[in-house]
Amino acid sequence: MSIAPGKLIVLSGPGGVGKSTIVTELKKFDHFYFSVSATTRSPRPGEVDGVAYHFVSDSDFQKMVDSGTFLEWAEFAGAKYGTPKQPVISALSEGKHVLLEIEIEGARQVKRAMPTAVMVFLQPPSMVELEARITNRGTDTPERIAARLALARQEMAAAGEFDHLLTNHQVDEVIQALVSLATS
Ligand code: 5GP
Repeated sequence: MSIAPGKLIVLSGPGGVGKSTIVTELKKFDHFYFSVSATTRSPRPGEVDGVAYHFVSDSDFQKMVDSGTFLEWAEFAGAKYGTPKQPVISALSEGKHVLLEIEIEGARQVKRAMPTAVMVFLQPPSMVELEARITNRGTDTPERIAARLALARQEMAAAGEFDHLLTNHQVDEVIQALVSLATS
């Protein structure tokens, strides 16, 4: 008996909207296979290589690009990020639903490569709220905050390219919505 392939769910949205909180919560359940991306950025405190990301050098990342390792890759805030293709294909063919939490340029590439991917855009309850989250986050310099705000405004303009818009009012609601998109 053949296994029905799983669904590929792409969760994207502006930086600061809370995508990673959603993924952290979703990881407590068994609904999805989570892809581990490669990145050239440095690990943050507590991030384990091979779990949060595969942390790689610029030259190793380039080798992965050249050898066609990635389903998609993009540059974000001065670092490169990519989704290794093979684990995603294997998980889907085993009937698992796969969730990719990626920025917008990479999301566009996935849609081109795999048109059946379910494209989800996570938007903030309001621009004011998104700006407050970005402004209040961590120890960024005023220049970096300004750059992040400008990028978030650009990213918000991509919402119309996505199949589903979810508003991040409540983490639980977003999780429910993602699970029903995968299982319906
Ligand atoms: P962070 O450095 O904060 O973990 O992630 C920065 C941004 O990169 C986030 O918007 C996140 O969704 C995105 N990102 C993480 N992994 C990937 C990936 O494999 N590909 C792409 N295109 N974006 C990614």
